Amino acid sequence: MSSATRGGAALRAVSDVSELSELVAERRAAGARIGLVPTMGAFHEGHISLMRAAMECADFVVVSLFVNPTQFAPGEDLDAYPRDLEGDVALAAEVGVELLWTPAVADLYPDGFATTVSVDESLTGVLCGAHRGAQHFNGVTTVVAKLFNCVGPDVAFFGQKDAQQAIVIKRMARDLDFPVEIEVVPTVRDADGLAMSSRNAYLSVEDRKRATALPKALRAAELAAESGKRSTLDIVEAARAVLRNAGIEPEYVEARDAENLSEVKELSGRPVLVALAARLGGARLIDNVVIN
Ligand code: AMP
Repeated sequence: MSSATRGGAALRAVSDVSELSELVAERRAAGARIGLVPTMGAFHEGHISLMRAAMECADFVVVSLFVNPTQFAPGEDLDAYPRDLEGDVALAAEVGVELLWTPAVADLYPDGFATTVSVDESLTGVLCGAHRGAQHFNGVTTVVAKLFNCVGPDVAFFGQKDAQQAIVIKRMARDLDFPVEIEVVPTVRDADGLAMSSRNAYLSVEDRKRATALPKALRAAELAAESGKRSTLDIVEAARAVLRNAGIEPEYVEARDAENLSEVKELSGRPVLVALAARLGGARLIDNVVIN
């Protein structure tokens, strides 16, 4: 166990699951409402915004840091994924988080691990699921189910940046009766609009500039809707045009129902998620906006 302090609030970093459970149990017994912020580390303002939201609505906040191997497909960036435990400990301490949980792969997936938690393909086989493969969201839901079971949070925090992930996790929690509220926190962006992401670290200077076309494309989709366009084909085309001008061939740009991810042809008053993914150099970036 290590610790870092600021203003008297100590951060404890633990990896052992039983140590985590004991610390959480102590606080729960004292009446604390427990909050969980699952992350893969390399903290930026997006993660910090989740931590702050958690600290506002829970008495005791656990931030988990686990680069989950099962949600990466072979050939994806598991090995290259940015890791900075020292920096993450310092940032979490600065925010005032009390417990950083850094489980080891062998603790969460011991020899003989043979179970998968899987949400229906109508939610997991579209958008990122269609492009990263079924194992991606199966990996996400399986690990998040384990995090929920190990921590037993009253409330857990996810970012709107990963809109599909939040929708899938909400459905899993509902369907499997996890006694946890799911809170979705707005996307935090750099000053030029680019959504913050640990993967932005992969961008060359040139691609970092081009990447501003992603939020601009989403803004164009919003403006198309605001100007009266009702067909999602037109709205998606407005976004595609911005990407084309920036020389970006997206993996996808799609408009789907913001709650159940079903296809939407016309705006009808229900919130619509316009989501996109694009590769720039070695970075696969995603972003989205909800049109109400
Ligand atoms: P990650 O470490 O990338 O797996 O992200 C951990 C959590 O932070 C997920 O719930 C993400 O959706 C959320 N997150 C990542 N980037 C942002 C951002 N720019 N704004 C808000 N939340 C974010």
